[in-house]
Amino acid sequence: MADLFDIQAQSARLERQGLPPQSQQYNTLPPLNLIHAAEASLPNPSDPSYLSGQPATKVASHITQDIVPALCGQSQSSRYFGFVTGGALPVAEWADNVVSRMDQNVQVHLPEQSVSTMVENAALEMLLGLLRLKESGWKGRTFTTGATASNVLGLACGREAVVEKKGASVGELGLLGACAKAGVSDIQVLTSGGHSSLSKAASIVGLGRASVKELPRSASQPWKLDLDAVERELGRPGVASIIAVSMGEVNTGGYALDNVDEWKRLRGLADQHAAWIHVDGAFGIFSRALEEDRDEYRLLHTRAQGVDMADSITVDGHKMLNVPYDSGMFFTRTPSILQSVCVNPNAAYLASGTVASIPSPLNVGLENSRRFRALPAYAALLSQGRPGYAKLCHNMAQLSRKLAIFLRESPHYELLPDESSDVEEVFIIVLFKAKDGKLNDELVAKINATRQMYVSGTSWKGEKAVRVAVSNWMVDIEREFRVVSALLNAVAEGREFDIEKV
Ligand SMILES: *Cc1c(COP(=O)(O)O)cnc(C)c1O
Repeated sequence: MADLFDIQAQSARLERQGLPPQSQQYNTLPPLNLIHAAEASLPNPSDPSYLSGQPATKVASHITQDIVPALCGQSQSSRYFGFVTGGALPVAEWADNVVSRMDQNVQVHLPEQSVSTMVENAALEMLLGLLRLKESGWKGRTFTTGATASNVLGLACGREAVVEKKGASVGELGLLGACAKAGVSDIQVLTSGGHSSLSKAASIVGLGRASVKELPRSASQPWKLDLDAVERELGRPGVASIIAVSMGEVNTGGYALDNVDEWKRLRGLADQHAAWIHVDGAFGIFSRALEEDRDEYRLLHTRAQGVDMADSITVDGHKMLNVPYDSGMFFTRTPSILQSVCVNPNAAYLASGTVASIPSPLNVGLENSRRFRALPAYAALLSQGRPGYAKLCHNMAQLSRKLAIFLRESPHYELLPDESSDVEEVFIIVLFKAKDGKLNDELVAKINATRQMYVSGTSWKGEKAVRVAVSNWMVDIEREFRVVSALLNAVAEGREFDIEKV
């Protein structure tokens, strides 16, 4: 393999973007027998040579021959629509290898020893620009391992802020001590269509999963936040509140708030009751990267307007940004709160030694030592720029909308959550089910068995449903639509699907 820093030798891989689609076909899942064979090739503790060591080249051959063929095609296939996995842009993949090669420990801002913290800062600034967030407004920011970690930071900051406003620091005294001192009897997390990781985050930061309260506006649109209910909950005496706004509910892609007027009302309520507003925008916030002046995206832009009024935001890197795992970002308008939560005190040897404009990552994030996680995001943002990401998000949205229309018109399938809903609400998630109950029960398995398309199963209003999430940079609107529509027709009509005939 050519050296990482020989750009000429790397160029074929770096320039994959824009190649004819045919050269990028890849199965979604590996054959099961290869997974079994790979599993059988793993070291066996009862083998006499166990842990006796072997040449690095032999290990590399084993990984190439046994392990790699048994890995999921989630990032290599343009039709892996499970979860929201994104892919890895070639330049981001390359930068990720540079990160491993240079093995920087990005924990302290040491401007005379490494440029790494400045690169992180530049990447976070570019991301704010891409998402059209006020660059001056989001001074508290850091890279995380993903949206779950960012949600942990969001709730931790919220917890710190809402108790601090009543006179005590959770970071110093702990939750029990601070709440007792501040006269807070309960901290609740008010949301609608909250991602499961929000409950996990609530557990980790000591609020408890039971603190997360769903306040849906209606049974038919459970992702929309009922602001009247929020107002009632905020008024409960002795209770402090964090409001978690879903910007991209995971089953429907729906936004909790309709427009900037709702944001203004929510901000007013939060200010009145000293509550914290956290946005989970893992993938949904990227609708803001779509071109602004296209009519077809006006509705999405309206839905995502007002985010600058939040106190903190979760963004995922390994989803829509299309950088390799693991990558997430966290932003807050109140850097002092993030420091109160994360400060790594009393370690003189970890001081940066300068009055820094960039805080040391160890004082604003979960980890101390950590990898140079920003470089792949930096590379991707620099390379794609605003037009590049606008185009990638456009491709994903257009494919999703074509599929939504196909499903709505199909005799076999039913578009969820509502056939009559405006296709302009669709960003990158499409939810549907089969009209035939028996087919619906087996639908996910039948689709995924083709290995030409992969979807996640979910449930919607007590029934099984299929969820398509389009998030890979390789998506080609026409090719993917042709394959997926033919495949879904074949599955519904009980015919064998042959990719060669599409
Ligand atoms: C994916 C996702 C998460 C969790 O993200 P990870 O990167 O898997 O930690 C949280 N919230 C939303 C809305 C998501 O889509």
